[in-house]
Amino acid sequence: MDQQFLHYVVPDSPAVDARMPALHKIDLITVRLPFVKPFSTSVHTWAVKEALLLRLESGGVVGWGECVADPDPYYASETTQTVRHIFKEFLLPLLTRGQTIGELLKRWSPVRGHGMAKAMVENALLDLIARQQSRPLHELLGLPARRIQSGISLGIQDSIPALLDAVAEAMSRPYHRVKLKIMQGKDVEWVRAVREAYPKLTLMADANGDYRLEHAALLRELDAFSLTMIEQPLSYSDIVQHAALQRELATPLCLDESIHDLDDARSALALKACRVINIKQGRVGGMIESLRIAALCQHAGIDVWSGGMDETGIGRAFNLQLQTAPGFTLPGDTSETARYFNEDIVEPAVVLADDGFIALPDGAGTGVAILEDRVARYTLAREQIR
Ligand SMILES: [Mg+2]
Repeated sequence: MDQQFLHYVVPDSPAVDARMPALHKIDLITVRLPFVKPFSTSVHTWAVKEALLLRLESGGVVGWGECVADPDPYYASETTQTVRHIFKEFLLPLLTRGQTIGELLKRWSPVRGHGMAKAMVENALLDLIARQQSRPLHELLGLPARRIQSGISLGIQDSIPALLDAVAEAMSRPYHRVKLKIMQGKDVEWVRAVREAYPKLTLMADANGDYRLEHAALLRELDAFSLTMIEQPLSYSDIVQHAALQRELATPLCLDESIHDLDDARSALALKACRVINIKQGRVGGMIESLRIAALCQHAGIDVWSGGMDETGIGRAFNLQLQTAPGFTLPGDTSETARYFNEDIVEPAVVLADDGFIALPDGAGTGVAILEDRVARYTLAREQIR
């Protein structure tokens, strides 16, 4: 075991010293936006995006957070209902004016897990504070502006020809990499077909935990296709068995679902369970914990990227701001808005430049304007808490 990763003290973002303003209005809003096309993983198919939004208002300034939990537990154990419960009963009572974000995160630490609930609140607070200070979020986090690499994630398709069509459509835009979802029975031959059609494409595969260690020989066949990585081949909660699998594969493994916080990342690196980590800020408790994980990985010489949860424009904007951190060296899941929604609840939409990069939106906080009339149009439920 590599002890250095267990003992490395990560530097913190200056945003931990930001102070919480008084919150005059707090709303939990559930929106439902139809996807342009349903999205399938090895576990489930989603036809709509149902998202829980947190709207915080202080002195006429509004900050927004988006929870990445689904209404169902088919990506993670948290759901929009568990997030509502944990927020109202355990996180909200600890929100007091004047404390720093760092102090708040410490006060939340007895709440075990529930990273998606914590991220929603931390996101909304950071956005609110940055908007109050009229600065972009990345600046509050101590990060310089830069353009962001793009990537696209293609869900499980019905047939190999349908997959090749989906890849062709993706490649009509200048994405920096293509990710294929795979599952048992839709893996080696499917990846082979794509690789034969596109020999030079930057390509990776994501299994969302569909395999077990007994499938190591089959997964080893994927070594023939020069994938940049295989993401989360084994159980959603496992680290140790991934270490055993990584020893058998030439292709780097990437952990996604298994990494809930900095401690999980330490364990994964110490055990050499992966050579890449997919940091979803909405899953690991927010932007500050994400930056800690990115700093640890950078110290370890491990590449990271920002995964997507098919967020609305609010969550997508946080993912863009996060990727200004220097450790984010690989293209992530950030795609154009038009791929997911005909109409989003923010402006401007994410679009790729001719070279495939994405410019940060130009404004305070996350930089996007939230269109409250559209939020209202897609609202299923709104609960005014204060
Ligand atoms: Mg994944």
